[in-house]
Amino acid sequence: MVTKDKPSQQATRRRSSKATSTKAKPPKKANVPKIKAKAAEPYKGKLSRFRPLGPDEVNEIFRRFCEIEPEPKGELEHTNPYTLLVAVVLSAQATDAGVNKATRGLFKLADTPAKMVALGEERVREAIKTIGLYRNKAKNVIALSQKLLAEHAGEVPRDRDVLETLPGVGRKTANVVMNVAFGEPTMAVDTHVFRVANRIGLSSGASPLEVEKDLVKLIPAEYGVPAHHWLILHGRYLCKARKPECYRCPIRDLCRYEPKTAHA
Ligand code: SF4
Repeated sequence: MVTKDKPSQQATRRRSSKATSTKAKPPKKANVPKIKAKAAEPYKGKLSRFRPLGPDEVNEIFRRFCEIEPEPKGELEHTNPYTLLVAVVLSAQATDAGVNKATRGLFKLADTPAKMVALGEERVREAIKTIGLYRNKAKNVIALSQKLLAEHAGEVPRDRDVLETLPGVGRKTANVVMNVAFGEPTMAVDTHVFRVANRIGLSSGASPLEVEKDLVKLIPAEYGVPAHHWLILHGRYLCKARKPECYRCPIRDLCRYEPKTAHA
């Protein structure tokens, strides 16, 4: 038999239950293990699911690049190997357009190591102050010019290892100079080349050096010199970092990157 509470007893029970609920601790969270976000790796996982590019496919990719742009050019303005070297040193963490804006004035004042040393660090600094890290870069430009005068008769050496001994010159800069000034089939791996090579499936290298080695081995000899420009231009204008423009890409049927973008 169910016994009904009297109204006073019901009120006491409601008060008591309200009091209990305000004191109640929040329910414990489910014991779900935390998953740490993994550092982004450049498209490695995506590519590993696909079959590697064969030699015929690699050849076809560069044949198409060649057909579209038979004589690709770099965008850094220069008048000789020395001004190219200086421009590339200045281009670290800066845009080519920004460097060109500064070097137009600088190279009018000094286009040889001797003239640059005579100009002096302070005036170099003034000429390039619109470029990031300009203080350090001005110091390097003067130091490398002095070294060229002291050890190389004012000439830019045609040797990557020797180039790398110059202040402010790393492997990438040395590769650009070897390629553009001396026509050597070197591969300078910048952010564009690194990304594009991994996306297309030309390399799964995790460092610029690994990608460089893969590309040098893979690219047919006849395309060895211009390949560097093609990959940079492809990455800069089409296979962009945030959203590649696959829908208008001339090598989309060969590229291993997925998913491809279908429209703008
Ligand atoms: S298809 Fe897309 S991801 Fe592949 S190279 Fe072209 S733009 Fe880049």
